[in-house]
Amino acid sequence: MEHQPKRLRLLYEPLCLLRILSEVRGDRIKPGDIFPEGPGLSATKSYRSFVDAIAYICAYRKRPGYVTAAALEQTPDAIVILLAANDGIDTAVVTLLEKVLIILSWIIENPTVRLDTKEGREVMKILTVHVLGLNAPKIFEYYQQVNKLVSLVMGRLNAEPKLKDQDSIINLRKWISTHLSKEGLQLQEKDMQNLALSSYRDREVFKALHHTTGSLEHSHNFEQLHNLLYKLELSRGLRIETIGRSRENQIPLLARTCDIDNISHRIFSDPVKQDIFLQQVQQIYSKKELDRLLSKDVCKGKTRVHAELLVLDHFEQTGGRFLNEKNKYIGCSKPACYLCHMFISCHPRGYASPPSHQKLYLNWRLPDVRTHEQNAAMRFQHQQNVLLRMIDTVRGGLINDIATSVGKQTGFADSTAGGTSTIVDIETDLGPGVANLSLEELRVMLDRQGGAGRSVRENHMDPKFRPRGFPFYPIEVSVEAESDDSATGGVDI
Ligand SMILES: [Zn+2]
Repeated sequence: MEHQPKRLRLLYEPLCLLRILSEVRGDRIKPGDIFPEGPGLSATKSYRSFVDAIAYICAYRKRPGYVTAAALEQTPDAIVILLAANDGIDTAVVTLLEKVLIILSWIIENPTVRLDTKEGREVMKILTVHVLGLNAPKIFEYYQQVNKLVSLVMGRLNAEPKLKDQDSIINLRKWISTHLSKEGLQLQEKDMQNLALSSYRDREVFKALHHTTGSLEHSHNFEQLHNLLYKLELSRGLRIETIGRSRENQIPLLARTCDIDNISHRIFSDPVKQDIFLQQVQQIYSKKELDRLLSKDVCKGKTRVHAELLVLDHFEQTGGRFLNEKNKYIGCSKPACYLCHMFISCHPRGYASPPSHQKLYLNWRLPDVRTHEQNAAMRFQHQQNVLLRMIDTVRGGLINDIATSVGKQTGFADSTAGGTSTIVDIETDLGPGVANLSLEELRVMLDRQGGAGRSVRENHMDPKFRPRGFPFYPIEVSVEAESDDSATGGVDI
């Protein structure tokens, strides 16, 4: 079921202009903005943090394709951990999560084990080793970023006579020279597990710096995961389901009509207002420059359904219940983009608004709806309502930005990928009696679970390797041939 391309263009055209004006729309929306930080962890906060942490440990590379969304669904027989990633979920992720679920089940079934006991610390170590094992590529990317910054930052600190002899700076310098290199050589990906562990253990040292580094961000997330386990009631069975990625579609823009005159003509029915808008636009960009930017690659762009919306649409399709229906929260390894945030917040089913970095990606699109799928008519209707609100918001934002002369910002960087959205069940056989295992038996079981010591990279280098959970589709590009009926300006939404 397709929305009218003409209608979709009413969203994408002003979006292109907004994207040219500024890559980021407004301030970041942090979790703390949604829940003002109070003492301790509320049930709602715990629930959200847990879902975010699951998504975070699954996004084992720091690239757009690996952005992962997660949610907890309540089914009659089990709690389902739903997962989707922009490029699909691969086997290595499922293998890790299966292990994490076994460990969680063991903890839940053994209520005497607490974080402050020896067994508790042991089991957390096992959990951490598995999580860090998969996440080595991501940590390595952070490590490389940290390395680039270190000499710069230390150079500055050393140049400050007041600072350079302070104990905290001396400790930091010592830590860097011992942990960020080995015998004068850069660390390798295989060293990342140890680096993450020592970063976490020695995190006090970093307090000498105010700004967090990648490693700190990690420590924080792992710590949260640890703390939250006891606050969740995951007493029933746990199961993993993955949602396939979407296919890649052509952005619904026509190069022929994607210029500033045409776009403003469609926004305004009043020619006077249109003229004012065009004059204001030209205080920021000349028409020629703007048209060049609008035509440049923008109309050749591809779109995909972002991970969060793949998960959201699963609930729309199946009518599934969230584990906590009062908190329909979809977690993600990254804050939501501007459009996902707007879509989720505008949706009539009342999904919880996620944190957002408010970046505008033109590779975004609404979830695909196919006639034979469950609840197709209702989903499509919901989308139409949301689309209208989004067009309205984007138009309003654009008019406001132009009127207040928001300055130029440049930079186009994003990647795209595609697929479809098929749910594939992956049953995790937790088996009976995990509860009765001793720690040693648990460890042996995890090793037998497969994947132990198997390198994730090998998976990707295997030419026959196909990430689990989605079929591959050829890219289909349909070229539209249609007339533009904009003889009069101002296309009503
Ligand atoms: Zn998004």
